[in-house]
Amino acid sequence: MLLTLTTTHRPATDLGYLLVKHPDRVHSFDLPAGTAHVLYPEAGEERCTAALLLDVDPQRLRSGRADAFTLGQYVNDRPYAASSMLAGALNHVFRSALRGRSKDRPELAAEPLPLEIRVPVLRGNPELTARLFEPLGWSVSATPIPLDDVPAGHPLSGDSPYVDLTLTGTQRVADALNHLYVLLPVLDDAKHYWVAPDEIDKLLRSGEGWLSAHPEKVLITRRYLAHRKSLATTALELLDRSDPDTVDAPADTSADEEAELPVVRKRSLAEQRRDAVLAALHEVGAAKVLDLGCGGGALLTALLADRRFREITGVDVSSRALEMAARRLRLERLPDRQRERVKLWQSALTYRDDRLRGYDAAVLMEVIEHLDPPRLPALEASVFGHAKPDVVIVTTPNAEYNVHYEGLSGMRHSDHRFEWTRREFARWAASVATARGYTVDIRGVGDESATDGPPTQMAVFRRG
Ligand code: SAH
Repeated sequence: MLLTLTTTHRPATDLGYLLVKHPDRVHSFDLPAGTAHVLYPEAGEERCTAALLLDVDPQRLRSGRADAFTLGQYVNDRPYAASSMLAGALNHVFRSALRGRSKDRPELAAEPLPLEIRVPVLRGNPELTARLFEPLGWSVSATPIPLDDVPAGHPLSGDSPYVDLTLTGTQRVADALNHLYVLLPVLDDAKHYWVAPDEIDKLLRSGEGWLSAHPEKVLITRRYLAHRKSLATTALELLDRSDPDTVDAPADTSADEEAELPVVRKRSLAEQRRDAVLAALHEVGAAKVLDLGCGGGALLTALLADRRFREITGVDVSSRALEMAARRLRLERLPDRQRERVKLWQSALTYRDDRLRGYDAAVLMEVIEHLDPPRLPALEASVFGHAKPDVVIVTTPNAEYNVHYEGLSGMRHSDHRFEWTRREFARWAASVATARGYTVDIRGVGDESATDGPPTQMAVFRRG
C-alpha cells in the first residue's frame, strides 16, 4: 500500500519538518497490520516527495477472523488497496502533522502549500472519488485500473474496481492529511476492524472545519462509521451544530444507494435550539438583536427571515466564520432594504466594544463553552457589564445528557473547553445575574431524558 505526498513549495525539503521525518533517512514503524515506512524518493529544493509505504502482513490480518480457512483470506486486495489500514498508518506516523502542529515550522504548517498526492491503488469509482475530494478544493484525477491479461470479449475484461488517484491543490498539510484519513476508508468502504466507540470523536476531530459543510457528509459519516446507523445519527447531529441547513436537505445529488435512506428523522437539535432562541426573542419583544459568536450564521439567517427583527448584528472573533455567514446570508445579493438590517462585525467578546451597546437582546448560542473558564469573567464584564442589553440569552450543552450519544466518549466538539451539568450552569447563571443586576430563568431545549435532562440548556437573563 502506497501513498506519496509531493510539494513544490520552496524550499521543498521543509516538508520533512512538517511531517517530522527527516528526508535523509528511512523511518520504520511496527503497526498492528504490518510495518509502515516513510521515505523520500526525491528531496530537492524545488520538489520533495514523501512516501508512506505500508507493508501489510497477511498473517496478522487473518488472525481472529471467523472464516480464516477460506482462500479469500490468503488471496485478497487488502495488502495493496488503500484502506482504513493506510489511514491508521497515516494517523500513527504523521500524528502531529495531522493536528497541524510543527515545532520547527509553525507558520508553514498553517499555510496552504502546493501539494500533489498520489494513491496508486484505491478501491472506488472515479465519479465518487471526485464527489468526495472536489468540494474540498482538490483537482481530482482518478483513472480506472484495467484488468490485465484478460482477453477482450471475456466476461472479466475491462476495468477493475480500482483507481489510480492523483489529487492536486493548494492546501495546508494538516487538512490534506485529515481529508485522506477520513476519505480513504470511506472510499474503500470495508473497515478492517470493528468500529470502536471513539470513532465518532475521531471523525469529528479530523472532519473539523470541512465535514459539516461537505455536500456528501451523510454518505461520508455513514460509511466511516461502518454503516452503523445509531452512530451515524449521533455524528450527524453533532456535526450539524455548525451547519444545520445542509443536514436537513436530502442528499439528492448522490447516486449512492445510501442516499435513499432517511437522513435525520426528527427535527435536529440545532433546529430546535434555533427555534427556542427565536421564541425567547419574540417573548421579550426584541427588535435590535446581537448574535454574539454567530459562527457560520445559522441564527442570523432565521433572524433575517423575520421582519420583527429590525436590526441584526452578528459578531465573531473568526473572520472565516464571518465570511461563511456573509455567504450563507447571500449578503451581496440582498436588496438594499434587507441588507441594511444586517451587520457583521469582527470582535472578541472578552474585550469591551462600544458598538455593542444599545441593543434589546444579545444571544450567545453555543459560545461560552468555547472559552477557557478563566476568560469567562471577561466575557461577563463586556456583555452584561458594558454592552448591557435588556435581555441576554445563553445556550450551552448539558453534559449529563452526553451518555445518550452512543459512541461519544469526550465532549461534543473538539474545541469545547468545558461542558456543564445542569447544576453547574444554574450556579453560573445565578451568580452572573446577581452580580450584574439581571434576573434569570433556565429552560431545556430538545427531547428531555427523565434522568439526565435536556440535551441543551438555555438561560434567559433580563435586566433590572
Ligand atoms: N452561535 C453559532 C456558533 C457557535 S460556535 C451557532 O450556534 O451555530 C462558537 C463561535 O464562537 C465560533 O464561531 C467562535 O469563533 C466564536 N467565539 C469563540 N470565542 C469567541 C470570542 N472570545 N469572541 C468572539 N467570538 C468567539
